[in-house]
Amino acid sequence: MAARQGFPLILCAPSGAGKSTLVKKLCAEFPLAFSISCTTRAPREGEIDGVHYHFLTKEAFEQKIQNNEFAEWAVVHGNYYGTPLKPVTEQLAQGKDILFDIDIQGAKQLSLSLPGAKFVFIFPPSLEILKERLVNRGTDSMEVIERRLKNATGEIEQSHWFDAWIVNDDLDKAYDELRAFYLSCTLEPRLCTQILKSVLGK
Ligand code: 5GP
Repeated sequence: MAARQGFPLILCAPSGAGKSTLVKKLCAEFPLAFSISCTTRAPREGEIDGVHYHFLTKEAFEQKIQNNEFAEWAVVHGNYYGTPLKPVTEQLAQGKDILFDIDIQGAKQLSLSLPGAKFVFIFPPSLEILKERLVNRGTDSMEVIERRLKNATGEIEQSHWFDAWIVNDDLDKAYDELRAFYLSCTLEPRLCTQILKSVLGK
């Protein structure tokens, strides 16, 4: 039977809600393409250019904005972040599902430009726990953490339009819910028109 069509799956969450772990688990289990963003923030320890992000200077990023090379872009926590358009177009044309890990400003832009995209918002159990996780992660200064917490409240308050809400108070449970949502999206008739041809033999 011919493969079904692909779709964009967008995951949004405040920093520290556990989104990266959920992204890794979903990409490990299913053959999803991952959209590698561009950013002007400095790489963290262990992050590889071209794998986790494309790390760019401010000037290089602004040049790409001028050239319309982004599907969306935004300033997040004081740095530029953006989704390169070309790989998204190419992978969708190849029938692949694409997973995006982007902030809510970028998600809103994609909701207007990527028809059929699905949007999942991951909540931390509480703002106190979110702060604890960011401090324990040890990758950001207290100033950066405070800025991220302030942004978290704003993001949570704007999450009403998403297709699915998942609270990450237990990683296994949150992953089961994400997995279930992803699988249900893959069953949408508009992505699976080949089933009719195959069943009816036409
Ligand atoms: P971090 O610096 O912790 O990797 O990411 C900070 C925030 O930027 C996260 O919420 C992440 O989802 C978001 N982000 C990562 N890539 C992009 C992107 O291409 N576009 C937008 N709008 N946000 C992004």
